[in-house]
Amino acid sequence: MAVPWCEPCERFWNPASVSADGACPTCGAAVEARPDSDAAAAHKVPWHFWVAITAAAIYLGWRAIQGIVLLF
Ligand SMILES: [Zn+2]
Repeated sequence: MAVPWCEPCERFWNPASVSADGACPTCGAAVEARPDSDAAAAHKVPWHFWVAITAAAIYLGWRAIQGIVLLF
């Protein structure tokens, strides 16, 4: 499964909205198919998601250390 991508318009197209010869409905340029994995990785996991995960991990790690210190 691949998603048609138009370089000049910088957008993805629904395969159904792309014309039969693979041209962009807006600018008429040939749309290239990109693998879903690349598109999903680029659009669903922004960089600040990993910043938030890292911050949460550091915070929870710090709280765990505090809990262990208080225990003894
Ligand atoms: Zn286009």
